[in-house]
Amino acid sequence: MAHDPDCLFCKIAQGQIPARKVHEDDQVFAFHDIHPWAPVHFLMIPKLHIPSFAQLGPEHVGLMGHMMTLAPKLALQEGCRPYPEGGFRVVCNTGVEGGQEVQHLHVHVMGGPRPWLRG
Ligand code: AMP
Ligand code: ZN
Repeated sequence: MAHDPDCLFCKIAQGQIPARKVHEDDQVFAFHDIHPWAPVHFLMIPKLHIPSFAQLGPEHVGLMGHMMTLAPKLALQEGCRPYPEGGFRVVCNTGVEGGQEVQHLHVHVMGGPRPWLRG
């Protein structure tokens, strides 16, 4: 299934629920987290509905390569300072014990001057 009609992040990626967009292309949508932990905190999601990292297979190598190589570009675009003084943190919560709350694969990208609210 490309989209899950009951999925919050599918609705955001399709523009049915508003979000503060950071980036959009044919495969990936990125938007600011509604409860930021850090001065910069956005989420990157595939437009395709994939519940979590646990469901990834060989067919997703291109998509995930694209998403992960895009992360540093978007981090700089959103105000993270360059490596090594600046930098950013990438977090992918997966499953109940991984602390995942929204069941659509997402990558948290966090950065900016410390202290942060969490992490
Ligand atoms: P996780 O615990 O990794 O599943 O995190 C889900 C994240 O989605 C949390 O950091 C939430 O603040 C964020 N979130 C939930 N609803 C929205 C929304 N409507 N717009 C932006 N971020 C959201
Ligand atoms: Zn979804």
